[in-house]
Amino acid sequence: MFSEWVMIVIYWSDSLSSIIPLSNLTNMKRPQIPLLVSACLVGEAVRYDGKVLPHSGIAELPSQGYELFAICPEVAGGLPVPRAAAEICTVGDGSSCCCVRNSLGEDVTAQFNKGAAAALVLATAKCVTTAILKEGSPSCGSGEVYDGSFSSRRVAGRGITTRLLQAHGIRVLSEQALDKL
Ligand code: SF4
Repeated sequence: MFSEWVMIVIYWSDSLSSIIPLSNLTNMKRPQIPLLVSACLVGEAVRYDGKVLPHSGIAELPSQGYELFAICPEVAGGLPVPRAAAEICTVGDGSSCCCVRNSLGEDVTAQFNKGAAAALVLATAKCVTTAILKEGSPSCGSGEVYDGSFSSRRVAGRGITTRLLQAHGIRVLSEQALDKL
């Protein structure tokens, strides 16, 4: 019985190698899982302060079978780099968003909404089901955002892009939760 199995395996591997050369089998790319990521996490100079702060864990994801699609919703929405810091103006318990204002008092809600829509378009085009977005950002935060007082206080809440992606069934994780991938 054992020798029959050995013969079957040898026969199968010979047949396969005649269809697909073995060298091609070892070179074949595994299907990659598409992920949307905040562009600042991959080292793009898109932050409001112009700083470049890549995340080492994100940089390793392509070698772990993920294909990254980076977008900065705020830049996609038309805001420059650098730009005035912005915070979500919340009402009540912070679960509903009324607007986004920057530290100059300007209403930038339209740019944030436009950027969120661009992120959704990219995610949909690339069949993304999970996004890794920067925690704390008024666009990308998924657990916390700044409280709207420009006093460095964080509260539980979600950014504008995160809300839109989640409303369309896309899972959003922060860069601090890569173990949940
Ligand atoms: S957190 Fe989001 S909106 Fe802010 S710089 Fe990074 S990608 Fe852009």
